[in-house]
Amino acid sequence: MSAESGNSQFVEIENDTFRNSVGTMDEMGKRKWVFPRKPKGKYTNYRNYASYIMLAIFFGLPFVKINGNPFLLINVIDRRFFILGQPFYLQDFFILALGAVTSVIFVMLFTVVFGRIFCGWLCPQTLFMEMVFRKIEYLIEGDRNKQMKLDRQEWDAEKIRKRLIKWSVFAFISMIIAHFMFMYIVGYEELFRIMSEGPQEHPLKFITMIFFTMTFYFVFAWLREQVCTLVCPYGRLQGVLIDKQTINVYYDFKRGEGRSKWRNNEDRKAAGKGDCIDCHQCVVVCPTGIDIRNGQQLECVNCTACIDACDEVMEKVGLPKGLVRYATEAEIENQDSFKFTSRMKVTTVFLALLIGFLGFLMYDRGSMEAKFIKPAGSTFFIKDGKITNTFIYTLLNKSNEKKTLTIKVMTPAHAEISYFGSEKIILKGDQILKGNINITFPEEDIKLSKQNMVIGVFDEKGEMLDSFETTFEGPFKLLL
Ligand code: SF4
Ligand code: SF4
Repeated sequence: MSAESGNSQFVEIENDTFRNSVGTMDEMGKRKWVFPRKPKGKYTNYRNYASYIMLAIFFGLPFVKINGNPFLLINVIDRRFFILGQPFYLQDFFILALGAVTSVIFVMLFTVVFGRIFCGWLCPQTLFMEMVFRKIEYLIEGDRNKQMKLDRQEWDAEKIRKRLIKWSVFAFISMIIAHFMFMYIVGYEELFRIMSEGPQEHPLKFITMIFFTMTFYFVFAWLREQVCTLVCPYGRLQGVLIDKQTINVYYDFKRGEGRSKWRNNEDRKAAGKGDCIDCHQCVVVCPTGIDIRNGQQLECVNCTACIDACDEVMEKVGLPKGLVRYATEAEIENQDSFKFTSRMKVTTVFLALLIGFLGFLMYDRGSMEAKFIKPAGSTFFIKDGKITNTFIYTLLNKSNEKKTLTIKVMTPAHAEISYFGSEKIILKGDQILKGNINITFPEEDIKLSKQNMVIGVFDEKGEMLDSFETTFEGPFKLLL
């Protein structure tokens, strides 16, 4: 990368052929295996702490219950859904659809301002790859140089032993992850029951579990960074979501160029050299195999390993840290220090409002849903000066508590309700109940052939839990 061209703030890329191909493929399209050096430093420590919290959440959440409901359960096959301990039904799917749209807007806006922070700090792929599988690899095969040596050497006893241990541990951890993923689908009680009864009782579930395990093994043992560069749709969107005001991991090319090897006792400024000593430590540490000095690339998952690597080098040679750092492209070009700009503030407030809106959608669903539908082909009947319509009611108790319900017509007045059973309807928690009622009005109260009507459902304390608007049918009347 060269310095600016003329008065322009744009940076000329002298040799940008790296943009013509993915960093982890050679010219023939063959995979170049990445052996990143083990990262260490301030950001790596922070990411370690963040990963402990996230792993604890992932492995702990299936056992968390709220009011006896799972905190999170997504069972598509049996159509059982719980989010934050709240049951969701097919009737609530508009909320989930709205929630999904809100989440997409959230992610887009977040990315426009804060770049790929999600990829480096929160993404499950990076979490498991870098914080679990990679660490195990370092433990068994050693750091970058040892791994490369092992890869090159013949299949002797040492290589067979280390690879077998690694693959077995990877397969075991993949199986553990698969079991926990399964808990998010069927719940931990069901999983323990299936496990205790054995594969002969549940062959399909056993095969599903093997499939999950093999998928995780394939992703973390072989596919690795290719998920971020070739598969992940979020990664592909970066090109259109980020601009010069977006925070990302950047190489300060103004300060770093022209890069040149370190020489003791040399006055680099006087020699017209930049601060980058071309040591390649930021490159060898990169888990996606790129050189951050080439500028923003779609392979970069903002893992911060190159920040730590460069800071360590800068410290050793006595130059200021932060040659590679979190910054915006504009800050680098103008050599500004990091500022929490108005755009960031406004977006942060808007994102907080979006989260509030999502929370509101989740909680403001009411504890009851009532519907009153006329049976197909039914009409009114008149007897003793009274008109009667039949309705099928569907009552859905979205709470965990048992409810004793009564139905009342709120408008128009003077309605009588006859039940096909008890007047008190008892509904268990998380239960749907259907039944029939007849609603009757004095003939003189029904002025229209289709009269608007509101029916309310009340609990034992007299509190209305839901209402439903429908029409009451009567004979056609000529309005004079
Ligand atoms: S360029 Fe730096 S931040 Fe990006 S993936 Fe590589 S090491 Fe991580
Ligand atoms: S680690 Fe820093 S000094 Fe070394 S090559 Fe990378 S940017 Fe240059």
